[in-house]
Amino acid sequence: MNRLLIIFSLFTLLNQAFAQVTTYEKTITANDLSRHLHILASDSLEGRETGMAGQKKAAEYIKNHFQQLGLQPPVTTPDGQKSYFQKFILVKRSWGDVYLKVGKEKKVFLKDFYAYGDIKVPKEIKVPVVFGGYGINTADYSDYRNQDLKGKAVIIFMGEPVKDGKSLVTGTAKASDWGNDWRKKASEARKLGAQEVFIIVGNNFTDYETRLNQLKSHIAQPYLSFSHKLRGGSALFISTKLAAEMLKTTEEKLLTQKEEIAKAGNDYKSPFKPAKLSYKADVVESAVETENVLGLIEGTDKKDEVVILTAHYDHLGIENGKIHYGADDDGSGTAALLEIAEAFALAKKNGQGPRRSVLIMPVTAEEKGLMGSEFYTDHPVFPLNKTVANLNVDMIGRLDEDHANNENYVYIIGSDRLSTDLHTINENANKNGVQLELDYKFNRFDDPNRFYYRSDHYNFAKNNIPVIFYFSGVHKDYHQPTDTVDKILFDKAAKITKLIFATAWELANREETIKVDGGKK
Ligand SMILES: [Zn+2]
Repeated sequence: MNRLLIIFSLFTLLNQAFAQVTTYEKTITANDLSRHLHILASDSLEGRETGMAGQKKAAEYIKNHFQQLGLQPPVTTPDGQKSYFQKFILVKRSWGDVYLKVGKEKKVFLKDFYAYGDIKVPKEIKVPVVFGGYGINTADYSDYRNQDLKGKAVIIFMGEPVKDGKSLVTGTAKASDWGNDWRKKASEARKLGAQEVFIIVGNNFTDYETRLNQLKSHIAQPYLSFSHKLRGGSALFISTKLAAEMLKTTEEKLLTQKEEIAKAGNDYKSPFKPAKLSYKADVVESAVETENVLGLIEGTDKKDEVVILTAHYDHLGIENGKIHYGADDDGSGTAALLEIAEAFALAKKNGQGPRRSVLIMPVTAEEKGLMGSEFYTDHPVFPLNKTVANLNVDMIGRLDEDHANNENYVYIIGSDRLSTDLHTINENANKNGVQLELDYKFNRFDDPNRFYYRSDHYNFAKNNIPVIFYFSGVHKDYHQPTDTVDKILFDKAAKITKLIFATAWELANREETIKVDGGKK
C-alpha cells in the first residue's frame, strides 16, 4: 500500500469513528435525563441515604435500567452468581458513654472535648499522658526523638515549628503538609504506638468553642465506618485550657512551648509532669449493607482494559424531618451515567461496541466519605493496573455564582494531573463536539476548595489512575432540601453528558492506551 493510500484509509477510519460517536451521542437527550432524574430525586426515594430504603430503590432502578439495556453484571457473588451489585457492610456507630477523667475531674463529651474518627474504648482505662509538641515525625525534624509513645495519650499542637520565617520541617519559608493535617499527625502517633491522640484546637478557649459549635451536631450523629479497615486518623480534640489542665500547667506556659520548640528543634524536651488520665469512649455499633451498582459493556479486541465511569447515587436522605433530594448532587451525574450506558449499549448492539471494556458504576456512600469508590478500589472487579481512566460526574445540572448568566461551561478537574493524553482527549472531544467552555479554575493545585480530593475520582487518582472530575459548581441549594429536580438545567446537563461520552468513547476505542506520564508538573 502506498503512502497516500495509508493516509486516505486512516482518514476514513477517523471519519468513521467520528461519525459513530456523533450517532450514539445523539441518544443522550435532555428529556431522558429529566425522566431518570424525576425518579431518582422523587419523594419516594427519600434522598437516597446510604443503607436506607431510598438508596435501595435507587439501586434497583439503576440495575433494571442496566438489565434492559443488556449491560453485563460483572460482580461475582460469594455463591458464584453474577450480579450488578457490589455489596459491602458498613458499621454504623453511635456514641455511647464517652468521658475523660483528668485527676479527679470528669470532663464532658461535646462540651469539654470532642472526638473524630474510629475511636472505641468500651471500658474505662488509665493512660499515661505525654506532651508531643507538634506531633510531627520526619527524618529531619521530629517531635518524638526524646519520647516513647507506646500505650500513652499524646497531646499535640496543630501547625508546625517556625524559626526566623522558616519551617523547621521543610527548612524553607514553605509550610510542610503536616501543619494543617490532623489525620496525618494522629496516624503517625498511632503508628508509633500511642493509645490516644489529643489535639489542641487553636490558641484559646474561644477558638475551641467556635470549632466545637460548628461540628457538634455533625459529631453527635451516628456515622459509618468500614468493617474491613479503620480509616486514617482518629483523635480527641481539646482546648488549650483542658490541655493545660492535663499537663498540670497554665495556658500561658503551654503556649510558650511553641517558641521553645522552635528554639530547641529536635532537642526539645517537655517540661511537664502531666495529671492522671482515665477515659472511656463507648460506641454502639450496627451493620449497614449497601452497594455499588456495576454495569459492563464488554470490549472487543482490548477488552482486558477498562474505562470506568462513576457518579454517586447516594445523597443525604432525611435530615431534621426534611427530604434532601440531591437532584443536582448527584442525581444529575447518576442520570448522566444511565444515558451514557444507553449510548454504549446501542453501539454494541449495532456491532460498533467499544474496543476496551466500559464499566458504568454509580457508587454508594459518597456523602459518608467517598466510601463506595474506596471500597471498589480496595476490592476492584477489574485489575487497577488495567484500569485506563476514571471519569467522574458529580453535580452537572446547575449554575454557580461565577456563571450566573452562562450555561455553556463545565469545570474540568484533574484531567492533566496524571496523563497529558487524557487532558488532550477531553479537549479534542469538546472541540469536535459540544464546545463548552472548559473552566480549569478548580484544577489549580492551590485551590482552597480542594475539589480534587472531594469526590469519588480521588480514590482512583490515589491509585495512579488518570481521572477527570466533571462538575458545574456549588450553589445555594447545595446539601439543602431545596436541591430539587425542578431547578435542573437539563439542556446543560445533556451537553456535559455528551462530552463525557465522547471522551469515554475515545478512551475506549483509540489504538494506544493513554500514557500515565505524570501530566502537568
Ligand atoms: Zn456529590
